[in-house]
Amino acid sequence: MSIETLCKNDVALIGIMSDENSSFLRGAAAAPGFIRDALHCGSANLCSELGVDLAGNPHFVDVGDRKIARGSDNFLSIESEISTVLAKGALPLVLGGDHSISYPVLRAVHRFHGPVNILHFDAHPDLYDEFEGNPHSHASPFARIMENGFARRLVQIGIRTLNAELREQVKRFGVETHEIRNTDCHAINVEFDGPVYISCDIDALDPAFAPGVSHHEPGGLSVRDILGVIHSLSGQVIGADIVEFNPSRDINGMTAMVAAKLLKEIAGKMLTN
Ligand code: MN
Ligand code: MN
Repeated sequence: MSIETLCKNDVALIGIMSDENSSFLRGAAAAPGFIRDALHCGSANLCSELGVDLAGNPHFVDVGDRKIARGSDNFLSIESEISTVLAKGALPLVLGGDHSISYPVLRAVHRFHGPVNILHFDAHPDLYDEFEGNPHSHASPFARIMENGFARRLVQIGIRTLNAELREQVKRFGVETHEIRNTDCHAINVEFDGPVYISCDIDALDPAFAPGVSHHEPGGLSVRDILGVIHSLSGQVIGADIVEFNPSRDINGMTAMVAAKLLKEIAGKMLTN
């Protein structure tokens, strides 16, 4: 469907095919098609656990995928694609791509909504000032987001890779980083005042649940942990991304199905705002 048909508060599903800022492996650019295929494969219905059915839902609009050319202005094209969705009053549900895309997506979100609360699931805090010389690395989006003042609160869940440099960055930016080793997901404050953006890096999950990621980081969240947090959060969800699924590392399409499940539950939450 075209962006032209979008109405206010519709959820617009959009794929951003970009993995040029991945530090270790390519492959995440191909993810959107695999997630969409899993969603529509017929093995499961399209109803969220909270009762929102995406099947035939006129407020759930798939606007397709965007191939992002490699090069220095790729962030501008991502920002412009998301701005087109936001200009219609719709809520972008973005399928990555690697995690670097969250920065240009949030640049667009900030222009329309001002600073938002960000609920961020990840094994990694993605707060490096730069990584291997690249300030736009998928290891750095939240450094850019914080220094630009795009976040009212940044709440990170699933983190299990903090080194000394990253601990400093957490302190510097006042990030609410919940290390998984001492996290009870039920006890995290996800009562947000104002708009909420959900950024879901698939590697937040334990590789046992989601092997199709570039960076296997054992000791992670369960699918149910993430769903529990999403179901219980309060505040209007105005946008979201699901990133870092790498189909070339998947086994029997199981990670694609996990990403599709998260898509259903996040879209359901966005549609009950
Ligand atoms: Mn990440
Ligand atoms: Mn990660």
